[in-house]
Amino acid sequence: MAKSEDLLASVSDVSTDTEYFSPIPEGYKKGKARYVVVMGTVMSGLGKGIFSSCLAKLMQDKGLKVAPIKLEGYLNIDSGTLNPFRHGEVFVLDDGMECDMDLGTYERMLDQNLTRANFTTSGQIYRSVLDKERHGDYLGRDVQMIPHVTGEVKLKLRHLAMETDADIVFVELGGTVGDLENAFYIEAMRELAYEEGPGSCCFVGLTYILEPKTLGEQKSKAAQLGIKQIMQMGVQPDIIACRAESPVSNQVRQKISVFSNVPLERVFSMHDSASVYMIPSMLRDCGLDFEVLRLLKIEERINLRYERRAWAKWCDFIDKIGAEAHEVTVGITGKYTSVRDSYASIIKALEHSGIALGCRINIEWIETTQVADENVAARLSGIDAIIVPGGFGTRGTEGKIACIKYARENDVPYLGLCFGFQMAVIEFARNVCGLKGAGSGELDPQCPERVIDILPEQKKIEGLGGNMRLGGRDVELKRGTLAWKLFAKADIVRMRFRHRYEVDPRYIERLEAGGLVFSGKAPNQPIMQILEIGSHPFFMGTQSHPCFTSRPLRPHPMFVGLVAAAMQKRYPNEDLRNCIEATRKVCI
Ligand code: GLN
Repeated sequence: MAKSEDLLASVSDVSTDTEYFSPIPEGYKKGKARYVVVMGTVMSGLGKGIFSSCLAKLMQDKGLKVAPIKLEGYLNIDSGTLNPFRHGEVFVLDDGMECDMDLGTYERMLDQNLTRANFTTSGQIYRSVLDKERHGDYLGRDVQMIPHVTGEVKLKLRHLAMETDADIVFVELGGTVGDLENAFYIEAMRELAYEEGPGSCCFVGLTYILEPKTLGEQKSKAAQLGIKQIMQMGVQPDIIACRAESPVSNQVRQKISVFSNVPLERVFSMHDSASVYMIPSMLRDCGLDFEVLRLLKIEERINLRYERRAWAKWCDFIDKIGAEAHEVTVGITGKYTSVRDSYASIIKALEHSGIALGCRINIEWIETTQVADENVAARLSGIDAIIVPGGFGTRGTEGKIACIKYARENDVPYLGLCFGFQMAVIEFARNVCGLKGAGSGELDPQCPERVIDILPEQKKIEGLGGNMRLGGRDVELKRGTLAWKLFAKADIVRMRFRHRYEVDPRYIERLEAGGLVFSGKAPNQPIMQILEIGSHPFFMGTQSHPCFTSRPLRPHPMFVGLVAAAMQKRYPNEDLRNCIEATRKVCI
């Protein structure tokens, strides 16, 4: 959260004698930034973040500065304590913010690092208002939803606009219109549009067109009711994006257009697509980018030369999708195997590498509670590479360790992410270094050889929420190692972290003596960040989450390395050096 003191310091005039309470940050230039507000109706989970990020990408490609922000309705201060099984993965930003997975969608689509200024929750908004109240900033006024809470929302957006010098701020409202908890956000947006003046805001209603199997035709009533709800709150949508399984018929678009006062050319069919990376061209083909520019009256700010180049690069990328000449199967062990959203970034990172290498990636989920040394070979047959992703708690850990042992002994490419790094250390300690009782303090505090234990700096922190080693950190690479080569021989790279436990430094020497190479370390601290085994085709673990920084046009080197090794295993008789070499160029 932006420090409330900072916000307070920059709030000009809080007056008592006027109803116009709208704190404007000092130096804010009205008209510089325009706002695109994306709201959902009918149901959530339709891809507001995807729509918004794709539109933002088209604007960014035209040389405009864009700043997305997600406004969440829940009261949690951040997403750190949310269960990924219910809410999807917790995405971590470079500045350590634990936020909604949609921020990952924006970072990937825009190839831009975001900060805590790009995410807020109702909890943050209320906390800020209550802090100000205790601080006496409301000068004796009763503190109300309108104007104070809505004022806080507008303040946040204007701050973001100023800090990022944005041409367009993309505001995504979580949930759907009609949720009680989101009502003040919509009211704040209505006020914002009024205050900023005509042409300052573009409202997008994302809705859903039902196509019941029994009827065999598209029905627009639910969409109409949803749009009506937006209008009842005093907001006239400028664009309607219709999510649907198949392309939305003209008749349905016409109905929605008449009903919602939105011209037909701005009622857009956003039907299911094989890849999210196709959606920018879907929007572009029907001219939605220029519709938005015209609505916001900023056509003169764009740079078409820049766009031509950016778009050509993007088209080269999407042309490769579906044209893969190879395929591999990657096994991912995971507790939350029933909800793909819990591993969204890993799936994306694999996809990026696969597209770059011309290799289709099939993912097989491995429920490790049923895996042990006796059946692991059978369970992993047909799998070309294994990932043990991040995780917490004991469930299925012995099964994960069995998978890692199998990968290590049978030359199966392996990538351990955070928890998967820690489990690889335990496996190595037990089966190579002879420390039979090796384990983790997280899983068994009484364990005799806690090769993985709590970070000294974490011991002091109490309570849940924001208490891990979080965010981007520098990692020092050891020259000559595989990690160093993958990262194009860089000495320092930046990676993102979210953990509480680490390799106990007292065991480092013994592990290294056994043949484990710690190829990445925290500079000036004995925190091990990357491990590898020299004699194995690809055995790598990292205490970080490289999936958070993989981007479509810049796949993460560790994932590229894993997929390349999987290809080599699957196609032993083919010389794949060329395609791997070509991929190296697109990596960081
Ligand atoms: N549970 C482990 C820790 O806290 C790993 C965390 C993770 O995988 N994100 O260190």
